[in-house]
Amino acid sequence: MTILLKATQVSRNFNVKASKTWFAKPRILRAVNQISLELKTGQTLGLVGESGCGKSTLARMLIGLLPASSGEITFAGQPIQAKRNAHWRAQRRDMQMVYQDPLAALDRRLKIIDQVQEPLVIQNIGDRAAQLAATREALDSVGIGEDLYGRYPHELSGGQRQRVVMARALVLKPQLLVCDEPVSALDLSIQAQVINLLSALQKSRNLAMLFISHDLRVVRHICDDVAVMYLGKIIEQGPAEKILSQPAHPYTAALISAVSHPNGGKGESGEKAPRKRILLTGEPPNPIDVPTGCAFHPRCPSVMARCKTETPAKTMLQGRHSVACHLHKGTAPLVYVPLTNETLLATPNRAAA
Ligand code: SF4
Repeated sequence: MTILLKATQVSRNFNVKASKTWFAKPRILRAVNQISLELKTGQTLGLVGESGCGKSTLARMLIGLLPASSGEITFAGQPIQAKRNAHWRAQRRDMQMVYQDPLAALDRRLKIIDQVQEPLVIQNIGDRAAQLAATREALDSVGIGEDLYGRYPHELSGGQRQRVVMARALVLKPQLLVCDEPVSALDLSIQAQVINLLSALQKSRNLAMLFISHDLRVVRHICDDVAVMYLGKIIEQGPAEKILSQPAHPYTAALISAVSHPNGGKGESGEKAPRKRILLTGEPPNPIDVPTGCAFHPRCPSVMARCKTETPAKTMLQGRHSVACHLHKGTAPLVYVPLTNETLLATPNRAAA
């Protein structure tokens, strides 16, 4: 697999006013703080973390919708274009996004078929007949039948709308798909169908996919690797199976412990699972006033004296698994919190969506 997307030490700062007083000086909010990652062709990377940790800002930077304050991002070996010129448009053709709210992502005044065809018209790809053929193929690949072509977004169900958003993203045949919480606005039963469809499309088209979600069960189902973010930094990264069964960072362990068991907390053979909910004390800190040392230390159940002053460096564990925590010095993960019994994701059923 070749490296398609590469970010090296990228940061994004915003100037914000910490108080509403007229003469208050702006302060710097580090939404994304020196993040490096790679995404290969055909690979799916999950980005998880609490709201406001910088996931969506990072995703927008990676596809050139938001310029980085520092660092470098390349796509297929070429730097991401900062200016919205012809090169930027050509690069954007290969990087498409699926948004959280399908109704907001679609134009309410356009019929479904016109919505999906629009990117081909904007990019001036093919003649009218070729555009129509590509549009029909994209709609067919997501299970939208001809009977829906003439409808408007408000005449569709939530699941159908998200399928149309996916068709609109896929009609340009991109190499990279960025999905920002693509199922969080859908009913639970529809979520499983959309996730299974995304997974099938990703495999059949060998797409690289960045999948942002706070639902760890979905991430485990669809992602090869997972990166966990906290206050603008990646604090743990590695194979999804490894991280979700043997998290090394106390924050990751707490996130996993909050995932509910579909069978009421029993193991697969019926015994009580050895998992205990880890309750974090306190609210996430204000990103303008990030704590010194390890940013997680005010909430960490394993906090030590050095955590308050020393920022933990990235430590490689086994294989691709890395963590930024003083508990680890190239050792095996210390925390073991199994996550089992995944029953959320059922077989796709396009008729019900
Ligand atoms: Fe907890 Fe210290 Fe590790 Fe931070 S570095 S996660 S405070 S143990």
